Amino acid sequence: MIKIERTAFSPDCFDNPNLEEHIIGFANSDKEFDWKILNYDEIENSLLDIYNTKCAYCESKLDKTELLHYRPHEGEYTCIGYKSLAYEWTNILPVCTKCKELKGHKFPVITNKLNSNKILEKDERKLKNFPLKAEQPKILNPEIDYPKDNFL
Ligand SMILES: [Zn+2]
Repeated sequence: MIKIERTAFSPDCFDNPNLEEHIIGFANSDKEFDWKILNYDEIENSLLDIYNTKCAYCESKLDKTELLHYRPHEGEYTCIGYKSLAYEWTNILPVCTKCKELKGHKFPVITNKLNSNKILEKDERKLKNFPLKAEQPKILNPEIDYPKDNFL
């Protein structure tokens, strides 16, 4: 894993005027997640640019890219706050199939676990903003964590 700086701008599909309503509807329901409201190819291409066509975790060259939600929108680790990140640009990472399977919907936290039964405000959904910044997840994020502090 290498440290990555994500560019400041999100792909155009995140400017969809219906997105906010979609997020609220999704976070408050048991609806299945789908990419339709966004543009999967646009997101994938932007992430491949930022990550130099490599997996965010193992750095293998990506022949087949999977888009991984860092904080999960389903499974035992999720909450309404995390569900409101399902369509958040900074919560999506490009990974290989193997890393996606290994990480899955897991998201154990060391301390300051977000215990949120409310939808996060737009600014609160950003990876580097409070309250997400205060959490100490066990799973590293190449845009937050420094590999040299975590690997020998
Ligand atoms: Zn990988």
